[in-house]
Amino acid sequence: MKTIWIDGKKMAQETLDNLRPRIDHLKRIPRLDVIWVGDNVASGIYVRHKKEKAEALGIQVNVHHLSEKTTLDALYHLINQLNQDEIIDGIMVQMPLPNHLNSNEILDMVAPDKDVDGLTTVNLGRLICGMPSLVACTPKGCMRLIESVVPDLTGKTAIIIGRSRLVGKPMFHLLLSKHCTVIQAHSKTEKLSQLCRTADIVIVATGKAGLIGKDDIKVGAVVIDVGISRQAQGPIQGDVRASEIDGVAYAATPVPGGVGPMTIAMLMENTVLASERHQGIV
Ligand code: NAP
Repeated sequence: MKTIWIDGKKMAQETLDNLRPRIDHLKRIPRLDVIWVGDNVASGIYVRHKKEKAEALGIQVNVHHLSEKTTLDALYHLINQLNQDEIIDGIMVQMPLPNHLNSNEILDMVAPDKDVDGLTTVNLGRLICGMPSLVACTPKGCMRLIESVVPDLTGKTAIIIGRSRLVGKPMFHLLLSKHCTVIQAHSKTEKLSQLCRTADIVIVATGKAGLIGKDDIKVGAVVIDVGISRQAQGPIQGDVRASEIDGVAYAATPVPGGVGPMTIAMLMENTVLASERHQGIV
């Protein structure tokens, strides 16, 4: 079997191109505010990348880079101020936060209509209930990647390895809404490999480099690799041993160039959608 390596970069670019006419229709420029606490190097790269992509598209970005010692109270005041500013369409808090800050608590400070990361309990709850919401960017991007090769997911069995608020949990409900039978695996799951081999679609989001290989998937499966592991030296690595599954999977995403670019494209899409809603266009 010749595996289709899904080009996430190309799909992301197409998504961004489709946003341009929507931005042109807006009465005012969309605005995204990014909160970055501390000096985590990877976070700095992600923030810079998001800012560059957004600005190239015509979205105004304001980055609030705060000290590692920022208090919960200070964050509350900042987010509250941004929530009330009518010119701001989207607010995102770059993860991870320093250990003394409770990320669940902070994510929920963002007004749901500006939660372009789709991570507040309100937006996650709306997703679970099948109500319109701003959907978490990485799982939303994964769905686009999967549906580019399997447009109708009805009746397919999917396994998600990982159960985080950021990826695993919203992914579960997106697949369920498309009538998949969904298995949610995690670090305590027994017989993981055996379960994976029952799945038509395998989404791996653990951050454990090379966790999944050819013996863990069935022939013809679609494999979506969300994982990113940064080594001190060398390229970033995914959770899947890509060279092993080549020729076994029907389709798969590479790392880099798969889920990552789509995550950023979905952030842009959510920001434009939030702006359209704020401006009464949709
Ligand atoms: P996370 O919060 O650390 O969650 C990891 C999940 O994987 C947990 O649910 C954990 O289980 C599970 N897990 C860990 N080791 C496992 C094992 N050996 N077998 C089965 N399950 C295991 O991470 P996250 O935020 O979801 O992110 C996951 C990965 O995706 C990371 O590498 C992250 O950098 C990457 N990521 C990439 C993008 C992108 O745009 N490409 C976006 C977001 C995240 P427990 O719950 O039992 O601990």
